[in-house]
Amino acid sequence: MTQPHLSQKHLSLLAGGVGGAKFTYGVMRALPDPASLTVIVNVGDDFEHFGLKICPDLDTVCYTLAGLENPATGWGRRGESWRVMEAVAVLGGPDWFRLGDLDLATHLERTRRLRAGQPLHEIAAAFCKAWGVKARVLPVTNESVPTVVLTDEGELAFQEYFVRRRWQPRVRGFRFAGAENARPAPGVLESLRTADAVLIAPSNPFVSIDPILAIPGVREAIAGKPVAAVSPIVGGEAVKGPAAKMFRELGYEPSAAAVAEHYRGLVSHFVLDEADADQAAAVRQIVPHVLVTDTLMTDATKRVELARTVLSWLEREP
Ligand code: GDP
Repeated sequence: MTQPHLSQKHLSLLAGGVGGAKFTYGVMRALPDPASLTVIVNVGDDFEHFGLKICPDLDTVCYTLAGLENPATGWGRRGESWRVMEAVAVLGGPDWFRLGDLDLATHLERTRRLRAGQPLHEIAAAFCKAWGVKARVLPVTNESVPTVVLTDEGELAFQEYFVRRRWQPRVRGFRFAGAENARPAPGVLESLRTADAVLIAPSNPFVSIDPILAIPGVREAIAGKPVAAVSPIVGGEAVKGPAAKMFRELGYEPSAAAVAEHYRGLVSHFVLDEADADQAAAVRQIVPHVLVTDTLMTDATKRVELARTVLSWLEREP
């Protein structure tokens, strides 16, 4: 396949964790110059645990781009061991959120740097440099904007809902606490404003992409640009995680078309899976440019293929 011409230009990509990281890896590999890519990552999942600052999406994206990710889980590190967690469990400490021994080094060093006054975006840049990641990875904000899940059992902190309760409580909505007063991290708005195109990864729309869009200035910065989203819903289900369950609980039939509807007015281009080809006409009523292709990123080659297909299409149909 020929190199997509658009790949010569500047791209911004909005991403959450696992689905976001896989697509980001493909885009990075599809570009002749990975430094032309800026990845803007959700921080709504971030929380403090054992006094340490944990940034699950940022770490998943960085580990994946660096080739350090755990292929079995999609999160955490390859070749991980769990000796610290086992010792914590013996002491009666919390072991519901699994932190591997290698992964702990990231949280320890990040927390040390934060306490010394270094902002999160600089820490992310330093870690990426240490891990050999050439793309620019930015947290959407350096401030704490935790996602709160409104459930039929009341409000739950995101990791309480997602990991401890294994996303079983029924959701009624979401709140991004403090988003309205948060400032985007340095570089975020500049990157979006100067981008030739913005990509939205097949991440969870409600808890990975919406918290990025909730940071003041982000929506305005991408308005009017080519913005291409890839559907995380394939064949009416999420490839992984609670996205389809969330659509249902919020009163919508989960489908690629429902994702397109969710992004109405924001995206100009929408990518849906071959399995959902019959929805293409309906999606075209919502988003002007529609591409049907294989979006299942089951291995590294398929991630790059999907990225190349999307970038070439954006070039043909800007
Ligand atoms: P999280 O923060 O770790 O939950 O990760 P994301 O929000 O970035 O990704 C979760 C979403 O990615 C889910 O809704 C999945 O359906 C979607 N996803 C994961 N793998 C794939 C894939 O190979 N193709 C597509 N189209 N979506 C995927």
